[in-house]
Amino acid sequence: MNFAVIGHPIDHSLSPIMHNENFKINGEDSTYKAIDIPEEQFHLIKEIVRKESLDGFNVTIPHKERIIPYLDEIDEQSRHLGAVNTVKITNGKWIGHNTDGIGYVKGLKAIYPDLENAYILMIGAGGASKGIANELYPHLNNKLTIANRTLDRFKNWSIDINAISLKEAERSLSEFDIVINTTPIGMKSESELIINLSNLDPDTLVSDIIYTPLKTAFLSKAEENGNTILNGLDMFINQGAESYKIWTGKEPNIKHMKKVVLKYL
Ligand code: NAP
Repeated sequence: MNFAVIGHPIDHSLSPIMHNENFKINGEDSTYKAIDIPEEQFHLIKEIVRKESLDGFNVTIPHKERIIPYLDEIDEQSRHLGAVNTVKITNGKWIGHNTDGIGYVKGLKAIYPDLENAYILMIGAGGASKGIANELYPHLNNKLTIANRTLDRFKNWSIDINAISLKEAERSLSEFDIVINTTPIGMKSESELIINLSNLDPDTLVSDIIYTPLKTAFLSKAEENGNTILNGLDMFINQGAESYKIWTGKEPNIKHMKKVVLKYL
């Protein structure tokens, strides 16, 4: 079977390494490649996918929303999110899914099993945040709090959350059991912080969904404060693992996938 990740730019993606190694260890001769499609060529997607004889593909930045009109079916959660990162092709039909949220929550649950009773603050309200929030929502007894620079972002959110500003998040930081950065702040600079962490309680689990670098300034500061930290690597591995399950119905070798990706980080 043939698979791919489609995005732009895509040359630094670790998805091909991760999936090809998983196929290899499972004794499958499937392939997975990176396909670069710039925005202005996206209308050619059907032809490109046909030419590559793909049985499924991942979609990444900047095409997670752009793919939707090309689908024959879309699962309920992805429709609700308005974003798709996994397409399965069955008898020529394109079916859209989104595995980002479940990917993150699986990793979080592994180190914080009592999610139900946690007070959680998420920072950022973009696509990744919405996916994670929708996945967390049914697990939680307490209302999820989400802080964002632009409060207008919450206009079309259908789940019931506390929407706050970044300043309010800084002030109320000590009230939360889990704090998650879902913004890209911290990817480019080693000192960049989305909010000031001086009010952080050392018992809070601090997480960032970024995995390049593996330890952002957000996580370094928290670690210096004595907090347990969780980066975005497990989210990346788990979203890929969930895509593999959707495409093949089989269980991937998650441990091996993680080991391989870590070699390249
Ligand atoms: P997105 O839809 O563009 O959302 C970006 C969010 O960050 C928005 O809430 C935005 O706030 C906020 N933001 C951006 N620049 C900011 C700034 N200078 N100051 C304050 N807030 C700022 O992006 P996304 O798709 O959700 O991705 C977010 C991050 O998650 C990226 O770093 C991406 O690489 C990472 N990610 C990781 C994984 C993984 O597998 N680990 C998967 C998906 C995404 P406004 O609403 O105010 O603009």
